[in-house]
Amino acid sequence: MPITNFYAQWRLRSGAANVLRDNRDLPPERLLQAVWQHQRLHRDQLRTLDGQTVRVLHPGFGNAESGPDFRNALVQIGDAPPRAGDVEVDLRTSGWRTHGHDRNPAFQNVILHVVWDADRAASGPPVLPIRTALDAPLGELSLWLEREPVKPLPEKMQGRCSAPLRELSPESLAELLRQAAAVRLQAKAERFQARARHVGWEQALWEGLFRALGYKHNVWPMHCLAENRARWSAGATSMLALQARLLGSSGLLPADLSRAQIGTDSYLRRVWDCWWRERDEFTDCHLPRSLWRLHGLRPANHPQRRLALAAHWVWAGTLPGALENWCAATLPDKSLDDSLLRVFQVGADDFWSWHWTFRSARLPKAQPLLGATRVTDLAVNVVLPWLWTRAGEGQNETLQREIERRYYAWPAAEDNAVLRLARQRLLGGAARGVFRSAAAQQGLMQIVRDFCDHSNALCKDCRFPALVSDWSQEHRDVGGTRASDS
Ligand code: SF4
Repeated sequence: MPITNFYAQWRLRSGAANVLRDNRDLPPERLLQAVWQHQRLHRDQLRTLDGQTVRVLHPGFGNAESGPDFRNALVQIGDAPPRAGDVEVDLRTSGWRTHGHDRNPAFQNVILHVVWDADRAASGPPVLPIRTALDAPLGELSLWLEREPVKPLPEKMQGRCSAPLRELSPESLAELLRQAAAVRLQAKAERFQARARHVGWEQALWEGLFRALGYKHNVWPMHCLAENRARWSAGATSMLALQARLLGSSGLLPADLSRAQIGTDSYLRRVWDCWWRERDEFTDCHLPRSLWRLHGLRPANHPQRRLALAAHWVWAGTLPGALENWCAATLPDKSLDDSLLRVFQVGADDFWSWHWTFRSARLPKAQPLLGATRVTDLAVNVVLPWLWTRAGEGQNETLQREIERRYYAWPAAEDNAVLRLARQRLLGGAARGVFRSAAAQQGLMQIVRDFCDHSNALCKDCRFPALVSDWSQEHRDVGGTRASDS
């Protein structure tokens, strides 16, 4: 059920949502970059031009400088060990030579040339054509992906839209953000829908949950683990065995005892007792430790602890049903986050309730495996979009309206760098307290994605000020704020 509010329609008309109509269109290179960055591909079917399998352990980081499009990817080709290096994205194989990459030393470390289609034999690095590997039709992907940010935002610049936005009444601004937030909810929901078409609803949910647990530097290793859920969850005889499989496969299981912490060593021995017997069975699921970004992480966000939590969820086996029950329950606004936290919270864990990581000392007081702040991220990024699109598939409009109500009522999430910069550029440095709801934050992030990410520090060719002007005119015409007709 598409969102059809003012923001969504204006976004479509202005080209901020540029739909490719059929598969005969040659996609813009930016779209291919976004497809690669977000791996909107049948990841288990990727093959190089010469027929070798490609396993993408990490797609790399979008490169804002000159040189290859993605830096520090980790890719396994055929039976070779995983290799770290750069990835270049082009429309055609011939781009490698016609763009001069073959003579440019900045491209020496390219390990994979991702192309839409192969137009000639490759002379450079292994070539991966992706035209037949997309996980959704090109037109659908263009709606979701073309506006995904690949490059970082410019810094500290007040935008041209800030003056017209200041003219809006608080109610009118709130409604504009709300409509942008509706577009964002739909975009996230479509991603679940596209994935569910191939792997089923439950697997799509697990992948979303794992990605959210990896936010923000370890999304890809978490996603890779989730993709293999059917393998590592089959036949596990205890929750500890699941923790062992997840920690072992992740590459994050320490090989040595600490010899300083008796409790840690005892737990580590028990995990290794399970893992050494099984690890050969799961060779195809193993991830290299180097895939994880651990530097600068808050201890509470360490992936070891997140994996321990995920093992509890998978072992209980009740999470998808519990989320549906949560959706069906009557809940007032003020208990939304607490009630969802109860769904995700697990009982005490002998080791992980008392430790942030394998290396950390025992905590003086037991800590829950999931903090309240993560629940908002899980809600707006995973749970609500997943439930919303499922309700849409079942043509249950009443349930969709209820999920939207929860989405708009959800309390604000933690601040982040995108929001801070957006408040500065669009809202003239408004205080963080201006957002009482997570949806308002989501709306602002959608505007950044739709407009700021495709302009520059001087707001060149940005059409958002014109949208605000039309919005303001429309509101004057109708004499006040209107409800969203999403
Ligand atoms: S790029 Fe557009 S949306 Fe972003 S600050 Fe400038 S005018 Fe506003």
